[in-house]
This record gives sequence, structure tokens and C-alpha cells, in this order.
Amino acid sequence: MLDKLLSEDNVRHLCALLDKAQNIIVTCHVSPDGDAMGSVLAFSHFLGRKGKNAIPVVPNIFPDFLKWMPGVERVAVYEKNEGEVAPLVLAADLVVCLDFNTPERLLGLQKPVEESRAPRIMIDHHLDPADFCEWSVSRSDMSSTCELLFRIMDQLGETEDMTMEEAACIYTGMMTDTGGFSYNSNRSDIYYIIGQLLTKGIDKDKIYRNVFFNYSAERFRLMGYMLYVKLETFPEYHASLMTLTREEQKRFSHKKGDTEGFVNIPLQINKSRLSIFLREDTERRVIRVSLRSVDDFPCNKMAAEFFNGGGHLNASGGELPCPMDRAVEVVRAALKKYAPLLAVK
Ligand code: 5GP
Ligand code: MN
Repeated sequence: MLDKLLSEDNVRHLCALLDKAQNIIVTCHVSPDGDAMGSVLAFSHFLGRKGKNAIPVVPNIFPDFLKWMPGVERVAVYEKNEGEVAPLVLAADLVVCLDFNTPERLLGLQKPVEESRAPRIMIDHHLDPADFCEWSVSRSDMSSTCELLFRIMDQLGETEDMTMEEAACIYTGMMTDTGGFSYNSNRSDIYYIIGQLLTKGIDKDKIYRNVFFNYSAERFRLMGYMLYVKLETFPEYHASLMTLTREEQKRFSHKKGDTEGFVNIPLQINKSRLSIFLREDTERRVIRVSLRSVDDFPCNKMAAEFFNGGGHLNASGGELPCPMDRAVEVVRAALKKYAPLLAVK
């Protein structure tokens, strides 16, 4: 049995909002990851099962390794089709915001969502939620939005009839946001939920292969290049840095999602506590920053202080509006400032 996360009043309010709505936009953050896509698709399947017209919409394109997901063919990509999607958002009865907690994370989709008179629901597990929804649940102690979604559905009494498609999408989000259950994944509830999902007939081993064994040869060559040529280690700080320029992305035929997970690899180095990855954005003149840590090193504090960002204790991000060489200097300054916390082992 799972603990109930929502009060009775809260459940009633949620049910009332869902009952009243027929055309429902289900959306997530920019550059959707497995948890964003998993929660959008799982919730869309669920709403469809309840007789609703669920319209899954993502702000921009999602990576190829998620294209196998059930229902993915119905997902509208706002950036590619603004003209058709904006009127759907404006005409919707309800907008469900999953796996993000500030409207800026919608990029261009923010405008129609805010112009729409539809009430908004937010279900999310990031820190520091903004107040932009009529109904919201924000739980940063959850492994993933997908886990949170399962628990809400459980409280609504909707897991009994959960389909294999819904279960597969939820499992995908839980698996990807925990690196295949290798971080943020010590609570026993997670494995209770997985047990429940398995009873719906999901093939979790296949889902693992679909997501993690689904890369292009180009990604592998780029990974080899990054580790052999670009990896810089700072043994005194138990930290490492990799940088990727626009020119290098072009040279290795980089496609969106190709560098997904690269930042985690240097954490496998003996005694590693922090890994930083800098990538020149191809669309905007900024450096995207990714940080990953182990144990109690607070990436989110470093991201907020040095990289205009934030995130979770062990996984954060941000961006710098400067050239790469300047960004590397910022990294060096950050390492120096955090030396006392990095030195602990
Ligand atoms: P990633 O390295 O995968 O891009 O991001 C890891 C985590 O850092 C995300 O799940 C999110 O919580 C946080 N994050 C990434 N980019 C930003 C950003 O620009 N601003 C803030 N506040 N958080 C971010
Ligand atoms: Mn997530």
C-alpha cells in the first residue's frame, strides 16, 4: 500500500477539474526527457480511457530514443506546428503541466497556455515551484513525475484498470529519472510501484534496451572523442569537465539527444564527486551547463550561484550567455569556491 499524498479536499478539487473538462492539453518542459514524455503519454492514455479528448503537446522536439513509446505518434510538437497547435491550446478546457514548475519552461508554448482561459493543473517533482496553476502537487522527494502520477492515479482508484501502455510510459519516466534506478531510488515504494506496473504486462527489460541501447553510431564516436580528447579531470576537487562546441557538434553530425547522459559518465571515475558538461547551444548564443554529483554535493547550489540555473541536489543545469573559454573560467571559479565541499570523501 502506498501513502496517500493528497488530502480528500485536494482529490475532490482535482476530480472536479477533470470531470468538467473534455478537451485537455497535456504538456511538459522544453527538451522533453523520459520522465516528461512518460508522464505526458501516461496521463494522455489515462484521460483517453476516461473518455476525454487528451491532446499531448510538447514545446519542442524530443529525442529519437523515446520514439518507440506508445502513443508518441499523437504528440504535437509546438515549435514545428504553432499555427495548428496554438488554437487547440486556446480552445482547451484544461491544461495539465507535467514535470516542470515554471511557465518559462514551456518556451514558445508559454504564450498560448497563458492566453488560454483554461484552468491549469501542475504535477511535478522539481524544487521551487511557481504559483501558476489552479491545482498543483509539487513533491521534490519523488523520484520522478511518473512516480508521482502513479501515486495520484492510485489515490483516485485508477490503477486497477491501468493499461500496459500507461504502465510502460510510467515505468520509462521512473527509470530514466533515476538513471536505471541507480540514483534517487532508495525508497522501497518505488519497487512496490514497479511490482504493480509489471502486473500490467510491461516488459521492463525491453524498455531498458529501447531507451539505453538505442543510440546512433555517431553518438558513440562522439562519446569516444569526448572521453579521449575532451575530458579534463581535477583530481584535487574530485571533479571533471567536458566541453562541446558548435563546430564539434557539426563535425560529429550531432542530433538532439546525442549527448544525453554524457555528463553522468565521468562520475564513474574513482572518488568522483562532481561532473560538469558545457555545450554550446546550436539555436541560441548560450552555453548549456549540466551538473551531476554523488552523495551530498549540492549541484543545485553551484548551478544557482554560478550558472544561472538550479535543479536537484545531484542533477542540475543552467546556462551562461558567454563564449566557451569564458564559461570554462566560470567552472574553474566554481570549483575553487566549492573546494571544501568537493574535498570531502
Ligand atoms: P540537464 O542537465 O538534464 O539539462 O538538467 C538536469 C536538471 O537540472 C533538470 O532536471 C532541471 O531540474 C535542472 N535544470 C536544467 N536546466 C536548468 C535551468 O536552466 N534552470 C534551472 N533552474 N534548472 C535547470
Ligand atoms: Mn522529471
